[in-house]
Amino acid sequence: MIIKPRYRGFICTTVHPPGCRRNVEEQIEYVKSKDRIGGPPRVLVVGASTGYGLAARIAAAYGLTAGTIGVFFEKSAANQKTGSAGWYNNKYFEARAEKDGISAASINGDAFSNEVKEQAVELIRSFMPGGKVDLIVYSLASPKRKDPGSGQVYSSVIKPVGTVYTGKTVDFHTGIVSDISVDPANENEIGETVAVMGGGDWKLWMNKMYQADALSDGVITLAFSYIGPEMTHAIYKDGTIGRAKADLETKSKEINDMLSGIGGKSFVSINKAVVTQSSSAIPVVPLYISLLFKIMKEKGLHENCIEQMYRLFSEKVYNGGNIITDASGRLRLDDLEMKEDVQSEILKMWNKVDTDNICEMSDISDFRNEFFRLFGFARSDIDYEADVNLEEVL
Ligand code: NAD
Repeated sequence: MIIKPRYRGFICTTVHPPGCRRNVEEQIEYVKSKDRIGGPPRVLVVGASTGYGLAARIAAAYGLTAGTIGVFFEKSAANQKTGSAGWYNNKYFEARAEKDGISAASINGDAFSNEVKEQAVELIRSFMPGGKVDLIVYSLASPKRKDPGSGQVYSSVIKPVGTVYTGKTVDFHTGIVSDISVDPANENEIGETVAVMGGGDWKLWMNKMYQADALSDGVITLAFSYIGPEMTHAIYKDGTIGRAKADLETKSKEINDMLSGIGGKSFVSINKAVVTQSSSAIPVVPLYISLLFKIMKEKGLHENCIEQMYRLFSEKVYNGGNIITDASGRLRLDDLEMKEDVQSEILKMWNKVDTDNICEMSDISDFRNEFFRLFGFARSDIDYEADVNLEEVL
């Protein structure tokens, strides 16, 4: 079967398995090229199949030399139909880890459910030495969440709060820059977005693990957030998603209190803007990232998920016993993105960029490539005219 990208907006409906394999291998090669990090041996990653979670798992497995359990929700390949990109990513990660003698086990299911949390406890008991974990990375991004208690399904929205947002955005497939206007969210939409993307489920995970005695003394847990510059605030930091991230920080403090008896700690890490399935769906963000990538590359500061996650462990969390936070107790991986000289150049370009000049002013073609890469396409080391035998790719 010859597999070509087929897409609608920010969803690509086809997946190229050999390209996904190279994406995973490339991240492993990156971490293997760096120094090993003196960190803990048992790691659970929730949201481990794509984006930041996959990179965190790879950085843990190859950087910390940790055994990992990954939890994710992905579509399996069946009956000559390809699975989702994250499903292949995980298969290739597990196969490679096994070959390299690194232990890895996974759960494919709804992390918001009680059942999957229960399965994770069982797997930690049977799979992790001593039946405990030392680090839990919570990296879920989802448009919906079914509440395990009430059964109610919540949907998240990306909207401003309080006022209409009017500003620039780009269709990254066509390069057309236009003005968009997004109406503010109502109270119900704000509440549902917090229910999906806030810290409620993270706290349920940590509670479950704590009650099950599955956490080692000194356990660390991390979840991810974004702040970004002024031009993205209305739609991100001050919008519905920002409300959810504020809740994540509140819950982090509550988790921290819960863990104090076992010397554990909880942190929110503020990460850099990167191209993932989640970020490409947020208006304004693709235009901002296209400008950001160009400037950060020119300055030799460019990073993707894997560079960020390696730096998270090696510089911020497991750096000789010192956990490096800002004054508010957050881990800051957005330090390079938020450098004064980077942001002032973006701001200058932001005011000038339009459909006619976007190709010169930004890295829009790289954004597009990165987007297709998430699904295994747009790699120069893969022959996309070659037949892919779905029975052989695993
Ligand atoms: P992503 O879409 O690449 O990954 C989401 C992961 O969550 C996948 O592994 C997916 O399988 C899993 N998942 C989704 N719903 C699930 C469910 N019900 N059960 C189990 N697993 C489920 O997203 P990402 O961009 O890597 O985002 C991860 C975190 O990082 C989010 O909190 C996001 O806000 C944050 N973050 C992202 C960026 C960015 O630019 N992408 C920047 C800063 C922070």
